[in-house]
Amino acid sequence: MHPGSPSLPPLEAQNQALRQQLDALLREARSNEDKMRRFDQLEHRLVGARSIVELLRLLLIEYRLAFGIEQVSLTLVDRELEVTRMLDADLRVDATLQGLTLAQSPAALQALYGTRLHPWLGAYDAPAHAALFGGSSAIGSVALLPLVRHGVLIGSLHFGSASAERYDADSGTHFLERLCAIAAVCLESALNQERLKLAGLTDGLTGVHNRRYFEHRCQVEIAQARRYGHALACMFLDIDGFKRINDTHGHQSGDEVLRGVGQLIHGQLRAGDTIARYGGEEFVALLPQTSLQHAGEIAERIRAAIAAAPLPSGGGQTLRVTISIGLAMLPHDLAGKDLARLAEALVATADKALYQAKNGGRNRVEVAA
Ligand code: GH3
Ligand code: MG
Ligand code: MG
Repeated sequence: MHPGSPSLPPLEAQNQALRQQLDALLREARSNEDKMRRFDQLEHRLVGARSIVELLRLLLIEYRLAFGIEQVSLTLVDRELEVTRMLDADLRVDATLQGLTLAQSPAALQALYGTRLHPWLGAYDAPAHAALFGGSSAIGSVALLPLVRHGVLIGSLHFGSASAERYDADSGTHFLERLCAIAAVCLESALNQERLKLAGLTDGLTGVHNRRYFEHRCQVEIAQARRYGHALACMFLDIDGFKRINDTHGHQSGDEVLRGVGQLIHGQLRAGDTIARYGGEEFVALLPQTSLQHAGEIAERIRAAIAAAPLPSGGGQTLRVTISIGLAMLPHDLAGKDLARLAEALVATADKALYQAKNGGRNRVEVAA
């Protein structure tokens, strides 16, 4: 070694240090490659998702499993309760969509990101983040991913890791940015698909479900009631003297009143109940896990609400109408019976009770014998 030159460690040691650095780089490259492969696979599945439920499952469950993340949650902005209705119409939705929140206002999400709608990585901060993860406490660091379409925040995906080091401000966000972009596009596309599907299951005039949806749903509810031994109530509702409303006030006023009645019935039911327009001025409702007595009270409440409400009939005018309701319960001995037949029989029984209500003078509830 020349005198005056900086003292270098022996070549042996230098080599060892270099080897270690190379090994670390190689490990990182392999890990990135592996991550990339898993990411690619999931990305393909996201793009191929054929329904909003499938997409939500991929984001909420598959990501967690594929990347070993402890907590995943997703908030979707749902201003018009449209997503709520879509999930309500999807018969496969159950408790497995844990981690999903629908927010009517984007304000809380907007506050997470400020004006810069960019992934945020860092230490878990309970006051700011607990609500995102349902108050879970076993989180060390988080990645918050804004889902943006056309400059608008449509949702937010949140990863929570038990490790405090996993997500920090210095980590590369390449993967996560890509995930944001893909998830947002897939979400928008899935929502559009659902809009089309929903349009086929919704009555265009009243906005409640149509008969096609009801017939499908009725079989699902009967299957559930049979499996769990739950009660199932069915109501058949028919506006009284509706022909006269049309004849006196015109068909358009009649349409307005129909819309109002549909919405009023809808407003009296619970989220898990089903209301559909069966045809003309007739509606049907299904109330799962509802006893005869309770269903009778609800039917009476609907009848009274309609009789009491001035209904808009166009041009700032209002009208009053009454409704007759037939109520039937799903019978107990269902073993081995065909679902379609059971559904038909349930509706027919409620219709028969409705006939009695009409005969009995209208504006009343009758329970099937
Ligand atoms: P009841 O008390 O016996 O039920 O008498 P009703 O007049 O309601 O019964 P009816 O079955 O004789 O007449 C139903 C009327 O509903 C006939 C039809 O003109 C009207 N209607 C059916 N669909 C629509 C619709 O989409 N819009 C409007 N405005 N009227 C409709
Ligand atoms: Mg009728
Ligand atoms: Mg009628």
